[in-house]
Amino acid sequence: MIYRSVIGLEIHVQLQTKTKMFCPCSAEVFDKPPNTSVCPVCTGQPGVLPVINEEAVKLAVLTALALNCRINRFSRFDRKNYFYPDLPKGYQITQYFYPLAEVGFLSIEDDNGEEKRIGIRRVHLEEDAGKLSHEKDRSLVDFNRCGVPLIEIVTDPDIGSPAEARRFMEKLRAIVRHIGASSGDMEKGALRCDANISVEEVETGRRSNRVEVKNINSFRFVEKALEFEFERIVEALKNGENVDQETRGWDMKSRITIPMRSKEEEADYRYFPEPDLPPLILNEELVESLRHSLPELPEERAQRFVETFDISPKEAKILALRKPVADFFEETVKLYRDPKKVTNWILSELLREMKEEDAEAIPLKPSQLAELLTLIDEGVISTRIAKELLPEIASKGASAKKLVEERGLSQVGDEDLIRSLLKRAMDENPDVVEKYRSGKTKAMGFFVGYVMKETKGKANPAVVNRIAKELLNQDS
Ligand code: ADP
Ligand code: MG
Ligand code: ZN
Repeated sequence: MIYRSVIGLEIHVQLQTKTKMFCPCSAEVFDKPPNTSVCPVCTGQPGVLPVINEEAVKLAVLTALALNCRINRFSRFDRKNYFYPDLPKGYQITQYFYPLAEVGFLSIEDDNGEEKRIGIRRVHLEEDAGKLSHEKDRSLVDFNRCGVPLIEIVTDPDIGSPAEARRFMEKLRAIVRHIGASSGDMEKGALRCDANISVEEVETGRRSNRVEVKNINSFRFVEKALEFEFERIVEALKNGENVDQETRGWDMKSRITIPMRSKEEEADYRYFPEPDLPPLILNEELVESLRHSLPELPEERAQRFVETFDISPKEAKILALRKPVADFFEETVKLYRDPKKVTNWILSELLREMKEEDAEAIPLKPSQLAELLTLIDEGVISTRIAKELLPEIASKGASAKKLVEERGLSQVGDEDLIRSLLKRAMDENPDVVEKYRSGKTKAMGFFVGYVMKETKGKANPAVVNRIAKELLNQDS
């Protein structure tokens, strides 16, 4: 029997606005001391009125446009009622009946490397809830996150494997970062996902019940949690059983999912229109101007890189994935017109140094890399020295030229010096000379290495090679 996953994701993206969804509190609350970014509105005091954050609406529309959605010119906010200590109002403001945007798609690579469209059901605006932390004999509540603007993105169940789910999330993160809608940091909770999975018997089309997995907070765990569920469900189907339709949580420590609640206990949220907010009416002009302001997205940009700079699709994809890297590449190429060389340096030297967390900040200016590469071309320094200098240029913002001058790092192109070093090496090692002359031409490397060592790597390799060959081929 062959089984396949049927997966749909519900994703929350924290919007990068200055203030919260409905009040003037700062929305940058990560790592802030508890309850320091709160006001009567976001803590649900009696008599207050929410006001819609225009910037959040714009970022939500931009994201929905990037996901090829239809933007609803009329949408509305609703109350989702439930009681929980992290929700002081007793309800969350969300968009239930009339979401901001519907029916879009995002293309990803499927497991066979083919392009595949994942349908987007809806994109709607809502506010976040607070955070509880449980200690041994008490629980604490932090309201900072109450009212932080979020969008929820709901996909169709078009995702065919845990790996595809991961690729979907990675692509989505690249997009929200590119358009500046969100930091997209899963570790900081700015991007969270609940994953729904059922398993289908391919021959019969018979489907298992659907399970929802919550608490997934990294790309790796999206894949891991879904792989775990897939195996668990397949096991049940093989035994002629089914799994319960329930909500499970991913437990990071034990790497398994555990039941949280079953469908029968699911709350009744008594959704109704939010009476304190007017409907959200978007005029065509605004939507069109946002559509035009959309920056080039990673995929289009990679395509253009391939066409314009003649680099490989694989390299272009890595360069274009993160906007700062892509911008850096393009700026550097303007100053140093060898796209292939610039690509190699970025991929092999720069990206290796950059950690995922600070992926947004390239530690170097395009002009600094261009200067370094020019020094190599001019024969002033070797590639090896350039690579050694790079981290320092990056961390101290130093100029390559200055460093080379200060430290006397310029290449030794002095032919007389190189010649005399080679002669000395040959005098001291007649056996190696003999080896070369008897046809083992590889032995030349010994002499080149000798000069490199003596000059601490500063000898111009081309010059050393040329003279070594000349001397070794002379009759003794
Ligand atoms: P509910 O109303 O129970 O929340 P929805 O229809 O809103 O269900 O779907 C929620 C999520 O579950 C969506 O992302 C959707 O793609 C996904 N989903 C729906 N049916 C299935 C299924 N049979 N298997 C896996 N995921 C599914
Ligand atoms: Mg739902
Ligand atoms: Zn507030």
